[in-house]
Amino acid sequence: MRNLPKIELHCHLDGSVRANTVVEIARREGIDIPTYELSELEKMMGVRIDCESLVEYLKCFDISNKVMQSPYSLERIAYELMEDASRENVKYIEIRFGPNLHIRSGMTTDKVIESVLKGIKRAELDFDIKGNLILSNLRHHTMDVLDDIIESGKKYIGKGVVGLDLCAAEEDGFCEKYTDYFKKAREYGYRITIHAGEAGCGKNVFDAVELLGAERIGHGVYIHSHEEAYKTVKNKGVTLEMCPTSNIQTKAIDSFENHPIMDFMKDGIKVSISTDNRTVSATDMTNEMELVAKYNGMTDDDYWKIYMDTVAASFACDSVKLWLLEFVR
Ligand SMILES: [Zn+2]
Repeated sequence: MRNLPKIELHCHLDGSVRANTVVEIARREGIDIPTYELSELEKMMGVRIDCESLVEYLKCFDISNKVMQSPYSLERIAYELMEDASRENVKYIEIRFGPNLHIRSGMTTDKVIESVLKGIKRAELDFDIKGNLILSNLRHHTMDVLDDIIESGKKYIGKGVVGLDLCAAEEDGFCEKYTDYFKKAREYGYRITIHAGEAGCGKNVFDAVELLGAERIGHGVYIHSHEEAYKTVKNKGVTLEMCPTSNIQTKAIDSFENHPIMDFMKDGIKVSISTDNRTVSATDMTNEMELVAKYNGMTDDDYWKIYMDTVAASFACDSVKLWLLEFVR
């Protein structure tokens, strides 16, 4: 598994920070963190084994975000995520993050986005991996924040920024109020992926596709509980970005054996495998793929089908897609 070429479409920057980097940046920039002891810090940055919910899972991001408040830190963390992914033969990764989580020390949204892009570009030169950036808006933030993200990110579309996402805690029926914003974003050229159907509501997936124009869905586990959502995802070829370990930790599913990924795929739904958060979930792509093979029966042929569907679902340009297809055996 480690040697197979991989594509990761769903990976949060602030959930995938190396613990030793947090310590080094905290010391360098004089930032207070709860502990400077590495193993202790790793424990605090990872989700507890008995995590109760998505809401509790999301608390793990507080420490990393404390040290992600300077251009240096954002560039370094993006670069290192690309490096970590390339070490397990990830060829292409779409990194996502919420720009407005990183303006506490006075950086503008532009500077925040630019710094992360710089890290991605520098890593592309040093490692055999390519990357793009998805801008996320946390659902509990105001519409002004979302609008600022859409407007600030506009000038980077085609220069590393490819998509727009909604993330964090998920309420039933959250999509409707975002319709106008996503219409504008699509007109600007953003591709759309939305976290939906992760915390119980299958209809949110239907809404994300129909109201917000989502081409991909983060998780989408709960489409099995909503017939229309299921049909829409299947008939429109919407790809589900599935993250087994994270889905267990947020209680989206109760056991790896019961993860619907392979049932979905066998029924003609397009699926993709991702980590969600490498540090918070203490995982990597290799581990996620091994889990799907072990518990859900993914074969070699299944993997290549998923790989090719993932290339098609990526927001990469055509030349990168062609390059990714060269790795198919
Ligand atoms: Zn996510």
